[in-house]
Amino acid sequence: MNYKEHIRVIPDFPQPGIRFKDITTLTNNGAVYASAINDIRQAIQDKQIDLIAGPEARGFIIGAPLAVSMGLGFVPIRKSGKLPGEVVEANYDLEYGKDKLTIHKDAIKPGQKVLIADDLLATGGTIATTINLIRQLGGEVVGAAFLIELGYLDGRSKLDGIDIFSLVTY
Ligand code: IMP
Repeated sequence: MNYKEHIRVIPDFPQPGIRFKDITTLTNNGAVYASAINDIRQAIQDKQIDLIAGPEARGFIIGAPLAVSMGLGFVPIRKSGKLPGEVVEANYDLEYGKDKLTIHKDAIKPGQKVLIADDLLATGGTIATTINLIRQLGGEVVGAAFLIELGYLDGRSKLDGIDIFSLVTY
């Protein structure tokens, strides 16, 4: 499947100079969406995984169907003020901004093996922060899976030692 054909590139969003990769044109097509989730699942299925975690909001679009297809639970990573229970938090820089991510304190038990899923790896800041949260709870990050990797931003270098899979690279 040529997934790039289904990803829309929107120039100057959300600010000048950024070529935004819009995955809604891919997920709008049921067969292509299912194929993408299935291809990601195949790439990671040999790993021992207890839980899948994904940062809001587009991480949910990849992580939740992946978790269901593997019979695993899904842990939402959210911006601050969104999760109702007790949380731990960490600050992060985005490709285009700053924010704080949180996770429920009881979402991951020490020693559980967690795979991170997101739509896109850019600078790696979001995933580095997600790794920080999972490790604060004693979870073990066994890998990270993405629909898209922006290779020219070299997010991988921030995720030293983490096994990374991406379906499409720009
Ligand atoms: P990073 O933290 O720099 O790796 O940025 C990754 C996060 O920013 C992901 O959660 C994406 O949802 C979002 N993001 C950054 N650039 C794009 C883009 O071009 N298309 C869609 N999402 C993007």
